[in-house]
Amino acid sequence: MFYEAEAYDTTRWPASYWRATRPAPAPCAALEGAQRTDIAIIGAGYAGLNAALELVEHHGADVTVLEAAQPGWGASGRNGGFCCLGGTMLDEAAITRRHGTETARDWDGFETRAIERVRDNLSRYAIDADPVETGELLLTGSARRWAAIQATQRAPDAVLLDRAALRDQGFATACYHGGRMAAQGFGLNPYAYALGLARGAQSAGVRLHGDSAVIGLHRKGGRWQLHTQRGQLSARHVLIASNGYSSETLLPWLKGRILPVISNIMVTRPITPAELQAQGWTRQMMAHDDRRLLHYFRLLPDNRLLFGARGGLSFTARSVAAFAARARADFDCIFPHFARAKSQFTWNGLVCLTSSRAPYIGPVPGPQGLWLALGWHGNGVAAASEGGRRVARAMMGQPDAPPRLARHHPPRLAVPRKFALRAAMALAGLRDGPMRPL
Ligand SMILES: Cc1cc2nc3c(=O)[nH]c(=O)nc-3n(C[C@H](O)[C@H](O)[C@H](O)COP(=O)(O)OP(=O)(O)OC[C@H]3O[C@@H](n4cnc5c(N)ncnc54)[C@H](O)[C@@H]3O)c2cc1C
Repeated sequence: MFYEAEAYDTTRWPASYWRATRPAPAPCAALEGAQRTDIAIIGAGYAGLNAALELVEHHGADVTVLEAAQPGWGASGRNGGFCCLGGTMLDEAAITRRHGTETARDWDGFETRAIERVRDNLSRYAIDADPVETGELLLTGSARRWAAIQATQRAPDAVLLDRAALRDQGFATACYHGGRMAAQGFGLNPYAYALGLARGAQSAGVRLHGDSAVIGLHRKGGRWQLHTQRGQLSARHVLIASNGYSSETLLPWLKGRILPVISNIMVTRPITPAELQAQGWTRQMMAHDDRRLLHYFRLLPDNRLLFGARGGLSFTARSVAAFAARARADFDCIFPHFARAKSQFTWNGLVCLTSSRAPYIGPVPGPQGLWLALGWHGNGVAAASEGGRRVARAMMGQPDAPPRLARHHPPRLAVPRKFALRAAMALAGLRDGPMRPL
């Protein structure tokens, strides 16, 4: 595995705020003995569960999901709950340059559909995931980039807000020159969404096994054999939907093609109305900045501030604490009037980057019937939900179902990834510079 064992310890849940908001459901039983299924799915996050739902509801397939911990244990149950556009590190210009305008347009449609998919799921499976204010705000702390945003603004439904307008609209901070507000997306409780999908899948007839880490995968007699500690499953098709928690031992093809990266979150105590007024940040809209190692934040329905930061190189207690302290210092710089609001929850988890900087949704080259859907680049609430649906359709004989951008195999990186990650983080840190009040 890429990081220390702590990162993959499925016997422990992250100490997340989300887990504290919902009672833990009865655990899904482990796979026992020799079983047969048509389609086996590895991983019960948004991608695996959406794929399972699509396969059962629209194709009448017989589906078994194997989850190493319990549904939602991975990034799906512990993220920031930003249901937003995203899923690739390539912007529209880069997609057009690499793959043409048709692919860029197609990706645009996928991102928008992905947000609608989450809304559909919430209503179809009656999931109470505390959705909040529509829209997303991109903030910049660089005068040069603010000028560039103003000069290149093209999206018809986006609104530009300078520092004074930000303050007027309830988005006052100490660090940002301006922002662009987009109309799409909304915040939600990601754990409640994951649990609701798992419930919906079980009601639809999906067999869902927890505590069932797949430790062996091979082909025998024209079928796939999956081994867990206490059981074996024989399947015609296998979908690997394990994203940042993927094992390269299970699927050596992945080696050098993906890069798991740490994302960190803290949640404060509820901010008092007086503190909110003093700061001038009163909206629940999702917000993030444009740093390479970005910060993302939003006010939760109970007035806690959720603050996320990408980065960190290790899961050792020392490294995690050092990163959390740095993130807290950035938070205090952005929101000086919230400095007394202690962090009551801090946790982290893994997102998945790929060498192509785009997701991969499709078959694994080699023996038939092995599929992948991963690489949401830290933006998978919407993208993994819709990506799971699209891979399911591809498995059922629709090769054009995945978005064009996600049909290209990520190439194998020639440089050692630990080195690449260290270098990328150092470079990003240099480019970003320290957070400073204006
Ligand atoms: C701290 C953090 C904040 C984030 N914030 C946001 C956000 O605000 N908005 C957003 O869009 N995205 C966010 N993301 C990213 C988003 O959460 C992920 O992209 C998305 O949840 C990925 O879903 P998934 O189903 O592909 O993978 P996961 O949810 O990670 O699920 C993979 C599952 O596979 C299981 N698994 C792994 N190996 C095996 C095996 N061998 N056998 C059985 N099971 C296995 C794991 O236990 C895990 O439960 C964040 C991620 C993190 C970590």
